[in-house]
Amino acid sequence: MARKPQRSVEAAIIENIGPVSIQELLAMPEDRWGMLRDRITDRHNGKDGLSARCMWCNHPVYIKTSRIEDNIYPLFAHYSGSNPEECPWYHGPNIKPDDARAAQYKGQQESKFHRLMCERIAEIVALDKRYLRHKVDNYLPPTNNPHGRYPDVYVEWDEIGPFVVEFQMSNTFQTEISARCKHYEDEGIPLLWILFGIDTIGTIQQSFCDVIRRHRGNAFILDDAAITASQEQQTLVLSCFLDNGNGLDQPKLIRFDQLTIPTSKLPFYEDRIVPP
Ligand SMILES: [Zn+2]
Repeated sequence: MARKPQRSVEAAIIENIGPVSIQELLAMPEDRWGMLRDRITDRHNGKDGLSARCMWCNHPVYIKTSRIEDNIYPLFAHYSGSNPEECPWYHGPNIKPDDARAAQYKGQQESKFHRLMCERIAEIVALDKRYLRHKVDNYLPPTNNPHGRYPDVYVEWDEIGPFVVEFQMSNTFQTEISARCKHYEDEGIPLLWILFGIDTIGTIQQSFCDVIRRHRGNAFILDDAAITASQEQQTLVLSCFLDNGNGLDQPKLIRFDQLTIPTSKLPFYEDRIVPP
């Protein structure tokens, strides 16, 4: 019998650490996630520790474990009793996968989740001495197009000029990605896609492959290491995973001003697309 698909919390915000996706959690050594699990539980029990919240609904979560054959895997789960029925990542008794999927497209819930990621980027870009101004989800009037757009984050830096950051979730439509790439190319503004919820170890979902290819085989992610490096270097640093043809290399921490900006206005660190 086919098992009913289960929904799980895809990302949590852990105190002092920031957003952690389920893929990042799964990639952690057991000592690391085990320590986080203990500290989150300690905090929930009123002791010293770390708070962790679902990135979608803000309800408290913990790290539960799941055993598959001889291996133990960590997962985020909502604490029972918090009952976040509106959360599409809550695997409750009454939520059907189809309902959950429909809920994912409800603007209000998505914008809340999305907003947290945008605000995180906004905090980081403002650390840079060259920072002039930014806008989150604000109308950007066109210069070469009939209509403007609402970039996730628009930044202006002294010497460097404007930059747009868009988050790609696993459910971002390809037509939307294509339209935004074309738009910012026409406007002459570099567009950096930051991927969210990508599995950098296993098979990469097709929607992410397309964006990685547009960035010449570069996948940019704002993970724990990138946030720490951004704070240390006082500028936007991202984890860059380069496509090696069979998967992704180990990530490198790359400052945004180290990127090459081609005529497509989709920056890359290293061009990994071999011309035919
Ligand atoms: Zn939730």
